[in-house]
Amino acid sequence: MIHLSPPFVGDDERSALLAAFDGGWIAPVGPELAAFEASVSERTGWPGAVALSSGTAALHLALLTVGVRPGDPVFVSSFTFVATANAVVYCGAEPVFIDSDASSWNMSPELLGQALADAARDGRLPAAVVVVDLYGQCADYDAINAICSDYGVPVVEDSAESLGATYRGRPAGTLGDIGVFSFNGNKIITTSSGGMLVAPTPDIGDRVRYLSTQARRPVVHYEHDEVGFNYRMSNLLAALGDAQFARLDEIIDRKLTVNARYCELLADAGIEFMPAPDWSAWNGWLTCVLFTDSERRDRVMAALTEIDVESRPLWKPMHLQPLFADARSYVNGVSDDLFARGLCLPSGAGLDADDQGRICSIILDVAVSSN
Ligand SMILES: *Cc1c(COP(=O)(O)O)cnc(C)c1O
Repeated sequence: MIHLSPPFVGDDERSALLAAFDGGWIAPVGPELAAFEASVSERTGWPGAVALSSGTAALHLALLTVGVRPGDPVFVSSFTFVATANAVVYCGAEPVFIDSDASSWNMSPELLGQALADAARDGRLPAAVVVVDLYGQCADYDAINAICSDYGVPVVEDSAESLGATYRGRPAGTLGDIGVFSFNGNKIITTSSGGMLVAPTPDIGDRVRYLSTQARRPVVHYEHDEVGFNYRMSNLLAALGDAQFARLDEIIDRKLTVNARYCELLADAGIEFMPAPDWSAWNGWLTCVLFTDSERRDRVMAALTEIDVESRPLWKPMHLQPLFADARSYVNGVSDDLFARGLCLPSGAGLDADDQGRICSIILDVAVSSN
């Protein structure tokens, strides 16, 4: 089976993991954890990096850190994976969904502006705006940050899918007030399961580290004066993560090569690729395409399944999910259309060129046939 984005790991990762094991650093914290955080801090330029058990955990702590409280509205990209919205629910807050812009597939600054103007008029501004960098590409932060700062609302950047991407040369994760990465098995780099929060100051990082380890006061007896979480990444996984992180540029290069091959081989398939706005250098995480209609998309997906190739529709927007049937939303039809016609193609960093050729000939066959 050819998967969408399988882990791309090798001897370096294996040695790093075993070295941590053999060094005795199996108990949850150890030097590899600090090293992994230092690597991410160095690359992003943000000193407050904290390795956590998942991207979802990082989102939860990011929301608490910017001050989200029970009952608060929080504006969230509608076109995303459910974890983004679930983290809002964990805080007891109310997600309000904002649709995408066709030029980037990410949060529409225009709709966000409308939603914030309405909220200001009603005296109920959101406690935060969670902006997602989808499929490896950043949202339009100049526009989004300008609107949010007009209203004094903090921006949480869900960059779970977009480690290594940049926006006008600035690293994904550092484009809002606080940022989140995921190292789940299918993300651009993996710790099998894990995530990281990045913040612009060490103080915020220390606060998050404290909350992630049961909010234990630094005294010998266990003393607590607020609710904490068991969200810290294990040291063994951090060893794997730091070895993966060292190869991030190689993995991005490979993913971009896979994408370039799709663009070339599918040039006559009558499909559209995810737009590439001029502000953005994406990380190539998943190659996503749009067919002329959903029937054609479904036929391509079925034909690929038949040759043991995984493909998936684009995210089902949150405003269409039964879970959020009662939630407020600002929609413009963009993400509905992407969900109806879109498909994620296998984009593994190790995808073989011959396999990719086979995948493309199936897509061409089905996409250009009239029935
Ligand atoms: C994967 C993902 C998450 C959650 O990350 P986990 O590490 O799986 O918890 C959150 N948001 C988006 C957009 C994601 O793709």
